[in-house]
Amino acid sequence: MAFVIVGGGHAGGQAAASLRQAGYAGAIIIVGEEPHVPYQRPPLSKQYLAGEQGLDRVILRPEAFYRDKRIELRRGVRAVGLDAGARALELEDGAVLRYDKLLLATGARARRLDVPGADLAGIFLLRTIADVDRIRAELAPGKRLVIVGGGYIGLEAAAVATVAGLNVTVLELAPRILQRVATPQLSDFYGALHADAGVAIRTGVAVAGFDGERGRLAAVRCADGATAPADLAIVGAGVVPNVELAANAGLRCDDGIVVDERCATSAADVYAAGDCTNHPNPLLGRRLRLESVPNAMEQARVAAANMAGGGKTYASVPWFWSDQYDLKLQMAGFAADGDSSVMRGDPASRRFTAFHLKGDVLVAVDAVNAPREFMACRQLIGRQLDPARLADPLVDLKTLL
Ligand code: FAD
Repeated sequence: MAFVIVGGGHAGGQAAASLRQAGYAGAIIIVGEEPHVPYQRPPLSKQYLAGEQGLDRVILRPEAFYRDKRIELRRGVRAVGLDAGARALELEDGAVLRYDKLLLATGARARRLDVPGADLAGIFLLRTIADVDRIRAELAPGKRLVIVGGGYIGLEAAAVATVAGLNVTVLELAPRILQRVATPQLSDFYGALHADAGVAIRTGVAVAGFDGERGRLAAVRCADGATAPADLAIVGAGVVPNVELAANAGLRCDDGIVVDERCATSAADVYAAGDCTNHPNPLLGRRLRLESVPNAMEQARVAAANMAGGGKTYASVPWFWSDQYDLKLQMAGFAADGDSSVMRGDPASRRFTAFHLKGDVLVAVDAVNAPREFMACRQLIGRQLDPARLADPLVDLKTLL
């Protein structure tokens, strides 16, 4: 028996470990196009970008783990073809792997901007260790960095670069930063935080192109005619799920590889987990695609359990975190699902929790520098609660459980 995993990211690495934990004793092969053992991406825009963590802290597990658990790592090689009927996976080096069960954990790739000058030297994406190693080599005090995209990754990079002494400008297409994921109040809070640190944030700005001098970036040109002089630029404009392998094999895809609550795809014995999936969430009552480590880990566990013959289903409240400067933001659920909000603590104190309710049911929580409250809150989501008690800092949230 051979189980093959395509993608050596968070989901792929976790699934291999979970397969062994579930008692599966047959062959496991991870095929990953990156040259590394499975690693975590969150530090790439945080501690690893800042030079505070080395690769040893970024990898999920040391290489010896895979040896000990008899997990074969095929690194630096891409899977290029899937024949789900024949249970065969073709690799770019010509090898063909026969599998009994297959897990697609192909993740997502950073979206490239399709504008003139996008391939000039000095313009970077931020998704892989290789991307960040190239960026780090360019970070130096006094340089002008333009970040395209005011989402989490762009803002985390802005925080690291500002602290490192660069002059940072963030250009955001939407009317506010973090629009896709945060309430207007939270966007304002983070906007003010960055402005205080010296980051120039411009919203409602479309990037029309990059201007170069002798093949290297010199300025970022906006659709309104303005330009932002730049020594380097980081494009943090969202991701594209890696579905091509699945789609070309005829698997159902729709903004991600479509899976059911068992992480099974539309093809027999082919599963998918992580950023590449479009999956049902019974707690939210809808399908979604997530870019989040907790989701990648949980889906990997579910897929592995089912590949090993179990019967596990996925039902988790989505949650995320972001570290910017000395602030840890943790979010669970989606604030946009609520119709009212209450606050515990004062944003001015830089420690607060915002609760979002639909009627009297708690649907989402945003916690800034309040990890203990966040832990308790995650378990409160989906419950009917009294907003006044949520807002009262004297009420121990654990007593509401
Ligand atoms: P990925 O990590 O994308 O891994 C997929 C792997 O598959 C890649 O190595 C890819 O090269 C490989 N692959 C794809 N196609 C093939 C193929 N055909 N053949 C072989 N290999 C293939 N999430 C959080 O929850 N909190 C955070 O703070 C946070 N910060 C982040 C910061 C950065 C800079 C980035 C980029 C992401 C961050 N995320 C964060 C998101 C999180 O990292 C992802 O949700 C997570 O990595 C998803 O894991 P995955 O295994 O599904 O996909």
